Amino acid sequence: MAAGSPDQPFRVAIVGAGPSGFYAAAHLLKNPSVEVDLFDRLPTPYGLVRGGVAPDHQKIKTVVRQYDKTAQDPRFRFFGNVELGRHLSVEDLHQFYHLICYTTGAQTDRTLGIPGEALAGSHSATEFVAWYNGHPDFRDLSFDLSQERVAVVGVGNVAVDVARILCRTPEELARTDMADYALEALRHSKVREVVMLGRRGPAQAAFTNPEIKELGEMEDADAITLPAEVALDPLSQAMLERNPDRAIDRKIEILQEMAVERPLTRAKKLIIRFLVSPTEIVGDEHGTVRALRLEKNSLSDDGRGGVRPVGTGVIEEMPVGLIFRSVGYLGVPLPGIPFNARAGLINNTNSRVVDPTSGQPVTGEYVAGWIKRGPSGVIGTNKACAVDTVDRMMEDAARGEHLHPAHSTAAEAEAFVRSRQSEVFTYADWLKLDALETAAGEALGRPRVKFTRIDDMVAAVLR
Ligand code: NAP
Repeated sequence: MAAGSPDQPFRVAIVGAGPSGFYAAAHLLKNPSVEVDLFDRLPTPYGLVRGGVAPDHQKIKTVVRQYDKTAQDPRFRFFGNVELGRHLSVEDLHQFYHLICYTTGAQTDRTLGIPGEALAGSHSATEFVAWYNGHPDFRDLSFDLSQERVAVVGVGNVAVDVARILCRTPEELARTDMADYALEALRHSKVREVVMLGRRGPAQAAFTNPEIKELGEMEDADAITLPAEVALDPLSQAMLERNPDRAIDRKIEILQEMAVERPLTRAKKLIIRFLVSPTEIVGDEHGTVRALRLEKNSLSDDGRGGVRPVGTGVIEEMPVGLIFRSVGYLGVPLPGIPFNARAGLINNTNSRVVDPTSGQPVTGEYVAGWIKRGPSGVIGTNKACAVDTVDRMMEDAARGEHLHPAHSTAAEAEAFVRSRQSEVFTYADWLKLDALETAAGEALGRPRVKFTRIDDMVAAVLR
């Protein structure tokens, strides 16, 4: 019987249960002749919505209601706590699925490539974010919050999240679903000053306007900029005159308002700086961060319609005890899948995984989300991205370009998965865990209290 009929549906494996995985599943399930198994290495679904979105941004997290709806489809299954490369290989998936889509996101971060980056007290923002969000792989990290001044390198929305979390009061944080150990650590934080560092000017800052405005609304922290650094430079001004952009105009306005001299009365201070590049992280005799060397930049035409920072040779040394680099996420390779290490992406053209040696598409394998196009855009951006991928998948499948699994029933796939991992988390299992977390939160006036160890999750629901 030909695959792709209600009697022999296309069996699709999606690897990675973040937004892209759910959006791909939702679009696939619009075709009545498709069944989806969504895998994740964690028992919990939702990827960065659970492990990345800031805990004080609960409204953004309501997007999971859409994913919940997708999960109610009888042709959808969740296989949590199952890791590709550990419990299953790509070859295994080939035995059970007609089509595979990788939606594993970008799980690590870019480095600065400057001396001192490995010193104690120098961390990536992605680690800190995963830690305060209770990601099981990061829950045992520790950060020296006894330091008074912290630098956050980068001026994207992740840098804003990190700076904001460091500046919030314990009372503000207590209303979130931040991991309880992080809440406790931040309650004792001695951090008084957070400095965000942009290498270009305010017109080039990657953060978005609502996020930067929110920094002016923290309960006990003042957000400021330095007048000279937020003045619009002639080059950016000329570019804006050629290509008007109201959002950028507004961003500059907000940042310039923050530079207006006023009494700073709050307990913490957040300084957003521009036109400086870290050139070295300086350590003390114990190998711990002591200072950050910054070079003042000017801006120059990059020849591609943008501006690039150029060092002026003027150096300042800023005493600082803790540093978070927040200069972008980076994808990691999956075993057996062609990877473009330079770009940090699964090698693909138009959502189709491509073998770099032959330049040919790999039959039946696709990508969506950050591992396809890089770590940019908001959660919703991944919807259009996943829809595009699924359209390619269904186009190819309709032409007979798909895998021919030896075992093509849902029951065979499940039996195999369970033979490799006896502690599979189904969606029903996740919903039980979700109910436990929200009940624990309710008692404390919090959205939820997260389980942060896989073993505890399994013990609470499966054992
Ligand atoms: P991002 O938006 O790409 O920002 C990266 C920042 O790092 C930029 O300011 C960039 O400056 C800077 N940078 C890169 N290399 C650098 C270097 N060597 N030295 C100094 N600075 C350097 O990345 P992100 O903040 O990780 O965010 C990822 C995506 O998630 C973004 O699309 C973001 O909007 C989204 N996100 C959204 C929210 C939200 O909506 N609330 C929250 C978090 C994340 P240049 O511009 O000069 O390269």
